[in-house]
Amino acid sequence: MFNRLRIVLSPLFVLKENSRRMSSKIVRIGVCQLNCRDNKEENFKIGEQLINKAKKEEAKIVFFPEAFDYICDSKSLTLEKAESIDGPIINGYRKLAKQNQLWLSLGGFHQRSGDGTRVLNSHLIINDQGDIVGNYSKIHLFDVQAGSLILRESDFTQPGSSIANPIETPAGRIGLGICYDLRFVEFARLLTASSENGAQILTYPSAFTKHTGEAHWEILLRARAIENQCFVVAAAQVGSHNAKRESYGHSLVIDPWGSVLLDMGLESPSMRTVDIDLERIEQVREKMPIIEHRRRDLYSLMSPMNIIVPIDDSKEEKITWGQVQITTNQIFFRSTLTLALVNRKPVVPGHVLVSPVRRVERFSQLNPEEINDLFLSTQLIARKIEEFYKAKSLSIAIQDGECAGQTIKHVHVHILPRIPGDFEENDSIYHELAHHDKKEKGWRQEKEMADEAKTLRKLFYPDV
Ligand code: AMP
Repeated sequence: MFNRLRIVLSPLFVLKENSRRMSSKIVRIGVCQLNCRDNKEENFKIGEQLINKAKKEEAKIVFFPEAFDYICDSKSLTLEKAESIDGPIINGYRKLAKQNQLWLSLGGFHQRSGDGTRVLNSHLIINDQGDIVGNYSKIHLFDVQAGSLILRESDFTQPGSSIANPIETPAGRIGLGICYDLRFVEFARLLTASSENGAQILTYPSAFTKHTGEAHWEILLRARAIENQCFVVAAAQVGSHNAKRESYGHSLVIDPWGSVLLDMGLESPSMRTVDIDLERIEQVREKMPIIEHRRRDLYSLMSPMNIIVPIDDSKEEKITWGQVQITTNQIFFRSTLTLALVNRKPVVPGHVLVSPVRRVERFSQLNPEEINDLFLSTQLIARKIEEFYKAKSLSIAIQDGECAGQTIKHVHVHILPRIPGDFEENDSIYHELAHHDKKEKGWRQEKEMADEAKTLRKLFYPDV
């Protein structure tokens, strides 16, 4: 009987398989390979020509390499030529993006910063309206001996202090990295790990040295694509820039199976387009779900501070929280594994609750990744709440189990902003915490909670 069933159903499976194979989300991207020198105007002119070519070839987004603005042979010149984000170079590229109605990934521009003694190495994403919608400053600096060359990027570059959330573009969600970042497996995984908002393309605009490039460039980039099952786009500098520096070239586009779709060899200056099919990501992941297979109970790599998940506020829904129902418009923060909601009966103004998304009653049942996410989220939320409510301290508490006063059977962290003299004795707040929700009266209405959540959301989603 089972065999017969299989025979009857198999044509359906074939149909489904075929339609999956045929479905596609193809986007044309442009990749620029450059041999930049120290003349900013010259470099910009070449960039402009390549963008015009990309427009003619109907690319939706064009990727530039690190140091597309200039490469100098001395620290003093490098610093002298640096511009701010609203300087002529970036304004020029913003104009080009708008005129040509295409997106740009401008890898590694020398961004003037602080007292001018060091720059930031910043990767910008500019949309087709000319707006800057992504900005990441390189966090891993190249302080390395490469063959006979000793390079100390930190002498003139200040490291960035955060990882940027992947940016939605017409070519999918782009994870921003720069050059040396490609050697950090955990950085790539962090950008791709979330199935909701993880990167679909990892980008490594580079000025890879010839020495390290020959040995490692392609193998590392293909590894990042294979292990994260995503596209990798690495626009590169090529050839000799001055007496001291030579770059490896070989700008690459790699698909989620690790196949090289484009290798630009030693071409320069050059722009090539290639079509990428975003459906390839799902096709590869469906058959081998590496991200799902990760043992979250045994190890953790998350950094939710950087991977805040957008809140979908298009519809208002009831969701279960412990044994009660809450509405989605009470939620003001989401990370990959954590949510935060406003309290129906706050002990003090700003008393909010942070909870794992998965329903777990006791603290000991959380896995390492949830713990990591919960505590990093709590830290981030606590900082913002303290500032917003102009508090001087915080009480942060978990009532774990019935005898500890836990009434909602779903782990949650209480964050309570404190001001001088709010209670007769500081610790009296715990007495109030134990009793406030046992009283019948004083529960807030949905509207009041939704308004508060809306205000608090702005602290985490300023652009919404
Ligand atoms: P605990 O007694 O530690 O379990 O804390 C439960 C917290 O949840 C209390 O501060 C309550 O005011 C709060 N609470 C109970 N029901 C709701 C609800 N529907 N929405 C938001 N907060 C709630």
